[in-house]
Amino acid sequence: MSGSGPAPHLAGGRLTIDLDALADNYRLLAKRSVPAEASAVVKADAYGLGLAPVARTLWAAGCRRFFVALPHEGLALRAVLPEAQIFVFNGLFGTEAAAVYREARLVPVLNSQSDLSTWEAHGWNGEGSRPCAIHLETGMNRLGLTAERARTLAEENTLTRALTPILVMSHLACADAPDHPMNRRQCESFQVLRALFPEIESSLANSAGIFLGGDFLCDVTRPGIALYGGAPNGTKPNPMRQVVTAEARIAQVRRAKAGETVSYGATPLARDTIIAVASTGYADGYHRAASGGGVPLRAVDGGASGFFHGQAVPVLGRVTMDLTLFDVTDLGADDVAVGDHIELFGPNMPIDSVAAAAGTIAYELLTSLGQRYHREYVGGEA
Ligand SMILES: *Cc1c(COP(=O)(O)O)cnc(C)c1O
Repeated sequence: MSGSGPAPHLAGGRLTIDLDALADNYRLLAKRSVPAEASAVVKADAYGLGLAPVARTLWAAGCRRFFVALPHEGLALRAVLPEAQIFVFNGLFGTEAAAVYREARLVPVLNSQSDLSTWEAHGWNGEGSRPCAIHLETGMNRLGLTAERARTLAEENTLTRALTPILVMSHLACADAPDHPMNRRQCESFQVLRALFPEIESSLANSAGIFLGGDFLCDVTRPGIALYGGAPNGTKPNPMRQVVTAEARIAQVRRAKAGETVSYGATPLARDTIIAVASTGYADGYHRAASGGGVPLRAVDGGASGFFHGQAVPVLGRVTMDLTLFDVTDLGADDVAVGDHIELFGPNMPIDSVAAAAGTIAYELLTSLGQRYHREYVGGEA
């Protein structure tokens, strides 16, 4: 067990990150990926959970390939895992960055003509061309070479061998909706394009893509969110273990009468209410969009709930930057004490439900957690 961030008695909330659950999730995804090899996507500080402990745990669980979004993330990961293969999704960032890729042995995912030319000119270290991955466009129109550009590249590179592609990849737009026709269409386009690069490994599936199985698996899968406990599929029960528990410390317990108001915007209370004032807010990634109404007669739609003493406790009124109010009336004041912690999400309050209540996805909750929680890493390679 090891901690980071502000000391527990000085922080408004705590995050418990279960590295054993993370390792179990990797092993499950690796099993579901067979015959492909499962890599791990650790961009954005491992989805907000902390790059170093996450990367070490995944390495110990057998993961050897990692994806980050940006070159500085690749550098940080290289310092943690000297032997890992590290791919950088967002491409090259010009010639100065190319030198860093070479020195840190980062594999750029080339996405554009300018990436191709830069790596051709600067991926060379005097001994041999540096490896690269090629991103092929199949429907996202976000990054990736068009089919036409891919064909030219395949032909030219067969002659010049200027580049050493080691992976061709594309990205699914609708994998979390298994029945969406886009999945099949992208898979077929990708199979056609990958055939232009024979003998080079291919990769298409993110977390949700792994559960599409079959042709979607290719040679390498690229799970992110499912490693961290997010549901890989919105329509089925979540097979992943919860990795993160986020809890907010109760700073005050108050009583207010029906008709009194709470928080910004003065939401009127629907009944005499016991309020637990918790010391986290939207600055801690508990989104303002998770705001509730004057529970139980909600003045606004939606609203998230926390979990406390065995039951769901709804958010009351607007979430503010540093504080969130919860309706604990049904528990009774004796059960609620300053210093107790309300679970914001975790084993009892699924992160995907909280995200849905805030009109967003688990990815955004995790990557918004911020630096104010006390963090406790348990199990694994903490
Ligand atoms: C972020 C990302 C992934 C991981 O996706 P999840 O849905 O989190 O599993 C995979 N591939 C690409 C290109 C990505 O940008």
